[in-house]
Amino acid sequence: MVTVALDADFFRRWLSAVSAAVDREADRLTELDSAIGDADHGANMRRGLTAAVAALEEQAPSSPGAVLTLAGRRLISTVGGASGPLYGTLLRRAGKALGDQESVEPEQLREALRTGVEAVAQLGSAARGDKTMLDALYPAVEALDDSGGGFEAARRAAEEGAAATVPMRARRGRASYLGERSVGHQDPGATSSALFFAALAETAGTTSAGESA
Ligand code: ADP
Ligand code: MG
Repeated sequence: MVTVALDADFFRRWLSAVSAAVDREADRLTELDSAIGDADHGANMRRGLTAAVAALEEQAPSSPGAVLTLAGRRLISTVGGASGPLYGTLLRRAGKALGDQESVEPEQLREALRTGVEAVAQLGSAARGDKTMLDALYPAVEALDDSGGGFEAARRAAEEGAAATVPMRARRGRASYLGERSVGHQDPGATSSALFFAALAETAGTTSAGESA
């Protein structure tokens, strides 16, 4: 169960934790992108999240919705690669769905993320199984439950979803240019999506306590 309030501070801490995770894993993200893309995913994510966190510190938005919307706008304006507009859309749409309430319920967060993930699928004309970030995002959002549990389950589902992209053949994004040669590599975007959910579990404090609490 989540015992912390899902307020603006929680969402700021979540995005700071994503940024820290991306910093730690940037080399790995770039390595994965060098196998089936153009070796910039680590740098793209780092630039975007650093700018988003700086904007949140400067402007200190007062609602969860405003935090996500501002972070999403920054990702879109600072990241040149496909992942910028895609993650930016995810956060902006989720932020819009949350509105301007000071604090939100876990159920609202789940529904907002679901809306955001649908917007990513639409923007990228992609579906589950295309070997993209959606293969981690869909299972993660599905693992969230509306009672405030599920953050740890979502973290695991995202990681498993990312790992499950290895045998897939890419049908969207740069990796799709490789056709059959995209098989056998983990998708970089699915891997960074797993970091978003690992950071969410960490911020909610469920990572060490697990689901039993
Ligand atoms: P670029 O591909 O422009 O270099 P990045 O390397 O930052 O951008 O991001 C690549 C990731 O973006 C991929 O691993 C994939 O997960 C995701 N991606 C690319 N195209 C799409 C798409 N059409 N729909 C969903 N996700 C996509
Ligand atoms: Mg790339």
